[in-house]
Amino acid sequence: CYPIASTHSTMLHHRFLLMLYPAQGHINPAFQFAKRLVSLGAHVTISTTVFMHHRIKNKPTLASLSFLPFSDGYDDGFTLTEDTNYTHYKSEFKRRGSEFVTDLIVSNAEEGHPFTCLVYTPLLPWAAQVARGLHVPTAMLWTQPAMVLDIFYYYFHGYGDYIAEKTKEASCSIELPGLPLLLAPRDLPSFLLGSDSNLDPLLISMFEEQLDYLDTETNPVILVNTFEELEPEAFRAVDKFNMIPIGPLIPSAFLDGKDPSDTSFGGHIFLPSDGYMEWLDSKPDKTVVYVSFGSFCELSKKQLEEIARALLDSGVPFLWVIRENAKEGELSCREELEEKGKIAKWCSQPEVLSHPSLGCFVTHCGWNSSIESLVCGVPMVAFPQWTDQKTNAKLIEDVWKIGVRVDHGMNEEGVVEKEEIRRCLEVVMGNGEKGEELRMNVRKWKGLAKEAVTDGGSSQKYLNAFLDNVGQESI
Ligand code: UDP
Repeated sequence: CYPIASTHSTMLHHRFLLMLYPAQGHINPAFQFAKRLVSLGAHVTISTTVFMHHRIKNKPTLASLSFLPFSDGYDDGFTLTEDTNYTHYKSEFKRRGSEFVTDLIVSNAEEGHPFTCLVYTPLLPWAAQVARGLHVPTAMLWTQPAMVLDIFYYYFHGYGDYIAEKTKEASCSIELPGLPLLLAPRDLPSFLLGSDSNLDPLLISMFEEQLDYLDTETNPVILVNTFEELEPEAFRAVDKFNMIPIGPLIPSAFLDGKDPSDTSFGGHIFLPSDGYMEWLDSKPDKTVVYVSFGSFCELSKKQLEEIARALLDSGVPFLWVIRENAKEGELSCREELEEKGKIAKWCSQPEVLSHPSLGCFVTHCGWNSSIESLVCGVPMVAFPQWTDQKTNAKLIEDVWKIGVRVDHGMNEEGVVEKEEIRRCLEVVMGNGEKGEELRMNVRKWKGLAKEAVTDGGSSQKYLNAFLDNVGQESI
């Protein structure tokens, strides 16, 4: 793993190009990373697709931060349906993106201010390939836990058959080199098992291409939105990778408090609703259950109804994010929900999680949501749906012990029933031994997360060492 070589970094004149995959879960941590680089004196150019660029609201405005979108050929958006031609989409994305990166790197060099480093979020290996061809150092910014990247690595490097064989029995234990944790099939990233999503073939092929690209590099630098104390083994588990834990990447007001005005991701792709902060203000400390399934997951109407009933029956105040484009239609008890709790179409999540009224987060366990909850000291009901969320739920429940996971095996249709959701809510919100233990653990992790990013903390040292090194390698 990356050596801790320096405590101070000379950042002036560093110019970073950040290429972002067009997804909320990539944009948020990357914006925080960009803001941190700028605060250290670097110039940063951020690029994502035209469509996503226009969707992002309240982009950060900083003198040394600029935005330059590129067209992937789908400037009005790309709708994934059964008939979508993935191959065409992928090849256009790559072809147009590669041309854009080439032109940008060359023109900046010709104008006398070359890029020092290209940082890209996963699934854009072509961006790194172009940069490498033009002798610009690269680093991937991995937006999930280090452990998930390890699992993908092993899956594509000799352990695919072992995993496939093992997962035939639901109760088996999967052991992978360097990872102390035994995994059951339900803990694996969903792509490895195959799910019902029509996105799977596209995403699995993109992950495979990403891993193939990393194979071509000798010791690829991978910045990870985690911190050493959180995943001490996982970021060292694959010798080939030079994984550098630099997280948690969330606005500084929630971390070191150095800049209390920095509360925003500046990257919402949905418009936040009004009134939810005032509603939270009206609630006593640690009483509110916040429910959100992130920017992408769509739950079935049946599942939404079960969640609604569980919330209403348990009598807790709740703030529930139901996105406007959720296709499930109106809930039968919508009026009652509006009366007893608060429904928002979108919110500024870190602000919600850090509000004193928060007592519990019912989450799909997207990595950003998980780490934001940890940083804000809010215990979780882990309700994973797909991708890395299942592995994250395992870490939340069994390793960091800051949440309780719902049992998906309750119903033949895979719907988690209201009794199970209520059971989890009662454990997390209750005054029993387990609830106390969860709250104590999450307070501990919150403290460690803050330490990691303050001066002298592990993530800060790793980041400085990375920046010093980039300076030496740059052209
Ligand atoms: N988020 C938000 N408001 C909401 C719901 C989510 O700001 O109402 C943010 C959240 O803070 C997180 C991101 O959207 O940073 C979601 O990322 P995550 O990795 O948790 O899940 P994904 O959306 O990628 O499934």
